[in-house]
Amino acid sequence: KLSARLQLIADLLPENCRFADIGSDHALLPVAAVRSGQASFAVAGEVNDGPLEAARRQVADAGESQRISVRKGDGLAVIAPGEVDTITIAGMGGALIVSILNSGQEKLAGVRRLVLQPNVGEEFVRRWLVENGWFLAEEAILEEDGKIYEVLMAEPASEAAVLNEQLYMPRRLPGGALLTNELLYLMGPRLTKDPDGVFYKKWDYEIRKLDKIRLSVASSVQEASREKEQEFTRLSEQLKEVL
Ligand code: SAM
Repeated sequence: KLSARLQLIADLLPENCRFADIGSDHALLPVAAVRSGQASFAVAGEVNDGPLEAARRQVADAGESQRISVRKGDGLAVIAPGEVDTITIAGMGGALIVSILNSGQEKLAGVRRLVLQPNVGEEFVRRWLVENGWFLAEEAILEEDGKIYEVLMAEPASEAAVLNEQLYMPRRLPGGALLTNELLYLMGPRLTKDPDGVFYKKWDYEIRKLDKIRLSVASSVQEASREKEQEFTRLSEQLKEVL
């Protein structure tokens, strides 16, 4: 049985897709997705030998070597253009996800869905999607084993620029606070529309973290630290206002 986090990603795969799971580790997602019939074929990509071996073993033990191809390589290098229609990248930082997508641009032609689960730095992923003509069709947030995860699902759209402009349009909350463009990238344009308990929990925690860093740099004599402190103070205040 998949973890709730991986199950959520599996649920966001298109029916009967061919997908590549980049950074697949134990290949749990590809095995579950071909078994449930959600995917007809999967590539499990891994750059590191340990996880690669784990993926090979898992796929062999599951008897799924026909439908799942385990490949060693960096990011999207493991797939040929047009080979898959969906890509999942989960369980790594947003900056790394963005660098994987950037280095494999030519592999994205023909891909009709991205399901991305950054552990941190979600805003980098949201910005990349907008800058590269993808429309954020769905966002989800969940808590599992004391950790909070966000999952972003995006599709290419010819009218992505217009759709994205609407999605990230600054808006006022019922209480009057302004959700700025910056906050929408940070917190999620969809998650902020319908915030649940997990969302509030995440941002309460993030504010506490920001305030702690803020206090620790406040006494610094370095100008760079003082600028950071000001930036964090501003962000922390903005966040408190919208929560
Ligand atoms: N995707 C799985 C999940 O969400 O449960 C595994 C996440 S695991 C924390 C991250 C995996 O990404 C590691 O196994 C690591 O080896 C792999 N990885 C990191 N950078 C990578 C890259 N550039 N290309 C392929 N795999 C990478």
